[in-house]
Amino acid sequence: MIKVQNLHKSYGDNQVLNGISEHIKAGEVVSVIGPSGSGKSTFLRCLNLLEQPTSGDIIIEGESITAANACVDKLRQNVGMVFQNFNLFPHLTVKQNITLAPVKLKLMSQEQADAQAHELLAKVGLAEKAEVFPNSLSGGQKQRVAIARALAMKPDMMLFDEPTSALDPEMVGDVLDVMKDLAQQGMTMVIVTHEMGFAREVSDRVVFIDGGVIVENKPPAELFDNPQHARTQAFLSKVL
Ligand code: ADP
Ligand code: MG
Repeated sequence: MIKVQNLHKSYGDNQVLNGISEHIKAGEVVSVIGPSGSGKSTFLRCLNLLEQPTSGDIIIEGESITAANACVDKLRQNVGMVFQNFNLFPHLTVKQNITLAPVKLKLMSQEQADAQAHELLAKVGLAEKAEVFPNSLSGGQKQRVAIARALAMKPDMMLFDEPTSALDPEMVGDVLDVMKDLAQQGMTMVIVTHEMGFAREVSDRVVFIDGGVIVENKPPAELFDNPQHARTQAFLSKVL
């Protein structure tokens, strides 16, 4: 579903991604871990062209998104993204946040989008919050709205960039539970996370990135219990 070949990304002289190759199958859940500044967010953002790769190929559902004629709108419909800081529109109600994009892109009528918003809010445990504004929600509730908003586009895959890092500890579980449900329903997911327990439980594979390269790429039990590379060992010894 996602094929990345020799991806490089620099900002000026700063070479952030130094040849990432990775293949993610439909329905796979892949966690991306690694030290701060190692290029995890840049990698994720390249997958939906929030960052333009410097070189390399990214092929999503058989189409090169790095080709000159790639359709960014269609890509962003197919690839949902959830950010650390929610990025909800503060001047719109929860329901309006969820219905804005699908209606604007003419994927559905306002009535259909409203009905879908209620379904999605029920799914993330916030059925009664449709008419409130984001600033009346807790961080964990905001993040669940952000997930519902991404799902409103009916994406084929979802990218999560540290979705629980900005949350108070007691909010983390509710967000992870929503993500777990999604994974169990077969959603293809790439998750940058520091939640090692969650990565171990939910992922099919864990990718350890350091210095803009994939150092180790394994099923979670193997990577966490028997890391092969010194850099993986050093990282895990600090976070586990
Ligand atoms: P991580 O998510 O693993 O913490 P990032 O991908 O955010 O790492 O950042 C990797 C490196 O790229 C850092 O050195 C960061 O300063 C740099 N970087 C990220 N985004 C930008 C940007 N938009 N402009 C310039 N440098 C950036
Ligand atoms: Mg990051």
